[in-house]
Amino acid sequence: MNPLLDIERLSVEFDTGRGRLQAVSDVSFSMKAGEIVCLVGESGSGKTVTSKAIMRLIDDENGSIAAGAIKLDGVDVAGLSRHALRSLRGKKMAMVFQEPMAAFDPVFTIGSQIVETIRRHNRKETSSQAWHRAVELLRRVGIPEPELRMKQYPNELSGGMLQRAMIAMALSCEPELLIADEPTTALDVTIQAQILQLLQDLKTEYNMSILLITHDLGIAAEIADRIIVMYAGQVVEKASKSELFEQPHHPYTQGLLRSITTMDSDRAKRLYAIPGSIPSLADLPGGCRFHPRCPYASEQCVREAPALQDRGGRQSACWNVEQLIGGDSDIPAAPT
Ligand code: SF4
Repeated sequence: MNPLLDIERLSVEFDTGRGRLQAVSDVSFSMKAGEIVCLVGESGSGKTVTSKAIMRLIDDENGSIAAGAIKLDGVDVAGLSRHALRSLRGKKMAMVFQEPMAAFDPVFTIGSQIVETIRRHNRKETSSQAWHRAVELLRRVGIPEPELRMKQYPNELSGGMLQRAMIAMALSCEPELLIADEPTTALDVTIQAQILQLLQDLKTEYNMSILLITHDLGIAAEIADRIIVMYAGQVVEKASKSELFEQPHHPYTQGLLRSITTMDSDRAKRLYAIPGSIPSLADLPGGCRFHPRCPYASEQCVREAPALQDRGGRQSACWNVEQLIGGDSDIPAAPT
């Protein structure tokens, strides 16, 4: 079966006051229909830029696709005109953001904005039909008293309810791909769990693919089928959720896993933080971009950049993976 989304060697650049800056380098991955893939990494890893490139939202931010291809159901997204892009957005793909207030205009009611989105993509639907559909969508995403909420303004809804309303708006055109950028970061843990459950339910109900962007591997553990780890604009590891949690190959993934907060008191005492910080894209280290923070860095790591290598159906970009997963005695023990 052909993938729904196929990204081939994508590089994204931005115009800055200091010249062109490459925010994403040589990123490739694909997604099947009905799959949840999590793009994981710290801030500055390139995951949001990758997702915005898929939606072609980088065009509005002085960015451009410098190389590579993005195909959605066989359509070359990078080559689409603005007009063609508008019809693809909403119908084929939609995006929900971390901050739902940014998705809604504060001066219009929730209902009028969802109805407007529905009618923009389907002129045959009357206002009354669109209104009823919007009410059903709000009900479907778990908003109580949807008729009342339709008449309210964004500032009258709680953060969790607004996030649900944004998901309802994104679903209004039944997209095949939903991109969710840190959709639960601003919410408390209980609401976060409810939103993740909602996304899983919607995936099953609509056979929708979801690309979830998160800095938190704990969230990926809840929801992902597959996980793609990014660091400093590059993909460093790709694996199924079970493989990645059972045996992370890349030292960066290992560090992220050790950083997951847990209720287990023993582990909580030993909570690990990856030393240092992600490099500036304007001043990337040579060789492996992770080498200044990696406890296993060798001379080769400083000199040469490792490419993604396939190892038994999963991929990672590290010179020392074989020794690390094989427990080579020359490699220092992982920090705890
Ligand atoms: Fe660490 Fe070297 Fe692997 Fe990079 S290539 S992650 S520096 S061991």
